[in-house]
Amino acid sequence: MANAFFHTAFTPNVKAVQTRMGSREAYGLHEQGPVEEPELGPNEIAFIEARDSFYQGSAGETGWPYVQHRGGPAGFLKVLDAHTVGYADFAGNRQYISTGNLAGDNRVSLFLMDYPHQTRLKIFGRAQVIDEDSDSGLLARLDNPHYRARVERGIVIRIEGFDWNCPKYITPRYTEGEVVQRIKQATSALAAQASRQNARPEEALGNGALALTVTGVRQLTPRIRAYELHAEDWGDLPPAEAGAHLDVPVRLVDGSVVTRQYSLAADPRHRDMYEIAVLRESDGRGGSRAIHETWQIGTRLRVAPPANHFPLHADSRPAVLIAGGIGITPIKAMAQALKRRNVPFELHYTGRSLADMAYRDRLAVEFTNGYFTYFSRVPGHRRLDVAEVMEHAAVGAVFYVCGPVALIEAARTAANRLGIAPERVQQESFY
Ligand SMILES: Cc1cc2nc3c(=O)[nH]c(=O)nc-3n(C[C@H](O)[C@H](O)[C@H](O)COP(=O)(O)OP(=O)(O)OC[C@H]3O[C@@H](n4cnc5c(N)ncnc54)[C@H](O)[C@@H]3O)c2cc1C
Repeated sequence: MANAFFHTAFTPNVKAVQTRMGSREAYGLHEQGPVEEPELGPNEIAFIEARDSFYQGSAGETGWPYVQHRGGPAGFLKVLDAHTVGYADFAGNRQYISTGNLAGDNRVSLFLMDYPHQTRLKIFGRAQVIDEDSDSGLLARLDNPHYRARVERGIVIRIEGFDWNCPKYITPRYTEGEVVQRIKQATSALAAQASRQNARPEEALGNGALALTVTGVRQLTPRIRAYELHAEDWGDLPPAEAGAHLDVPVRLVDGSVVTRQYSLAADPRHRDMYEIAVLRESDGRGGSRAIHETWQIGTRLRVAPPANHFPLHADSRPAVLIAGGIGITPIKAMAQALKRRNVPFELHYTGRSLADMAYRDRLAVEFTNGYFTYFSRVPGHRRLDVAEVMEHAAVGAVFYVCGPVALIEAARTAANRLGIAPERVQQESFY
């Protein structure tokens, strides 16, 4: 089918220019066969009904084209059916150029612009002027009850062709209403951003001498998250031996700031980074929950340099490391330090199940010998027997135990029974 708009617009002179400029062949493809009957589809209808202005061209007896701007409330150019549009003609400057032109030649060209979306629709049609006397019912359909302007007549246009134009060279422009709408959107986006920033205090939390920034967050298990901490200038941090911990300031949901301790879990050879791993305690006082909910990359802290109440022995006696659950954090750093020092050691790590045990995979890769895992809540799996481990340990070994109170108690009891001197059993309880 031939495009109706092209059929009307592409006169012999127009076609001659197209031929000269090389576009004739492509346009010719749209002009084959009988001419289609133009029919407005959903896109055209929605576009027309959203317009609050358009331009209308008409021609007088002299042949001069005349372009008139028409404006009204959005949708004042009404789609009467898929082939017809119409609008109410309000009282104006009383020149009546368009109305007069239509008396001699009913052909019009409409030009509808959507500046913000850089879209335009061109329509050819034949106009009929109606008034109260000729068709009061149709005039009532064209009227806009909420628009306070006097309707003089109605213009009903039977569409003979339409065409969408490319957006090139349309500068986006906005009506006052559109600007207000965009300001509202931008204002609420800024407000949302500000409230997110308030949740993450701009100010560093705490007042220690050491300024740290959270530079990485990793989910190690469903309840444990690791936080990487760097100095603000990414320089070296105060050295932290295995077993050390940080006193960390935490802002609770009620706004109060409390301190919680977290063991340094990274390999102590890293001088420019600390890492802590935080177990989310749902029935606690909210410290670990607040960390999980508010700390993110960029969170700034001011802390005291690390303290160490759980240091490794400095000589070459063998070691037995026993970790329960989140107690793996200092034990991991200890294993890495002992390996580097070539001190023989065993690592026994117990958790409720595989999914509760942070760092388990990388420990298995790093420590191919002397690494044992146990599950306390998986039927059929080996449970840790602390007394047995201690009984079969190398002669003179030093024991390091970190985990639940019950685990630490079990180690103490076994040491008593086996006659192991208390200074050979080091422990750290998190509670
Ligand atoms: C030296 C040190 C190192 C630590 N390292 C880590 C670490 O690496 N990772 C980590 O996640 N946590 C670590 N902790 C624990 C941490 O400091 C917080 O206590 C923990 O995050 C919970 O804080 P919370 O405010 O969420 O809950 P809290 O209110 O402190 O409660 C946590 C849980 O412990 C129970 N609880 C509270 N007090 C006791 C108690 N006296 N005896 C038994 N149960 C108790 C609560 O019922 C709750 O289930 C460490 C603690 C210390 C002292």
